[in-house]
Amino acid sequence: TVQQSIPLDRIRYNDQGLVPAIAQDYLDGTVLMMAWMNRDSLQKTLETGECWYWSRSRQELWHKGATSGHLQKVRSLRYDCDSDCLLVGIEQIGDIACHTGERSCFHQIDGQIQPPPADTLSQVFEIICDRRDRPTEGSYTAQLLAAGDNKILKKLGEETAEVVMAFKDDDPEQIAGEVADWIYHAMVALAHHQVDLRDVYRKLQQRRR
Ligand code: AMP
Ligand code: ZN
Ligand code: ZN
Ligand code: ZN
Repeated sequence: TVQQSIPLDRIRYNDQGLVPAIAQDYLDGTVLMMAWMNRDSLQKTLETGECWYWSRSRQELWHKGATSGHLQKVRSLRYDCDSDCLLVGIEQIGDIACHTGERSCFHQIDGQIQPPPADTLSQVFEIICDRRDRPTEGSYTAQLLAAGDNKILKKLGEETAEVVMAFKDDDPEQIAGEVADWIYHAMVALAHHQVDLRDVYRKLQQRRR
C-alpha cells in the first residue's frame, strides 16, 4: 500500500534493534512526533500502510492509534543518508498525534504551548485566523475581516488583476510580490468563510498524480 518501499535490511538499527522514526504531516509539513521502530514494526507499517512503532516502555509492537483512534496513514516513507533514521509522511487521523491531546508532541517552548512551525502559508493563515478571532488595533487584516465580503472580495478581484498584469510585464520580482498579495487575500477570504487552508491543501494533494 505504501508507494515507496524500504529495503528492511538496508536500515541500520541500533544495538537494541531500533531506528528513530519522525512522523511528519503530509499536508503542511508539521513535525508531529518521534517514536522508535524495529524491523517488525517497519515491516507491519509497510504492509498495512499505517504506522506501527516499538514501545520501549511496554516492550511491544504498538499500532499507533489502536486505543486513541488516532491512526497514522502512511503517505511517504524515506530513510536518511546513512540509513539510521526514518521520515514518515503521514495523514494523521483525528489531527492529534500526541497522547496529551495536542496535535504535535513538539508543542511547547519553555512550558508554554507553542505549536511547531508548519510551512509559510500555514503560518500566515494562522495569524489571519488569529486576527479574525482576536482583532488587534491598527491591523489591516482585522479591518478587512471586520468589513466583510464586499471589501474582501473586491480586494481579491483587484489583486487578481494585478497578478495578471505582473505576468504580462514578466518581471520576476513583481510577479512574486503580486502573487504573495493575491494568496494573502485569498487566505483572508478563506478565513472569513471558515474554510481551513488544510482543506485547500487536501484538494491539491487529491489532484496530484
Ligand atoms: P495510541 O497509540 O494513540 O492509541 O495511544 C496508546 C498509548 O501510546 C498512549 O496511552 C501513550 O502511552 C502512547 N502514545 C500515544 N501517542 C504517543 C506519542 N505521540 N508519543 C509517545 N507515546 C504515545
Ligand atoms: Zn543518519
Ligand atoms: Zn507526545
Ligand atoms: Zn497587489
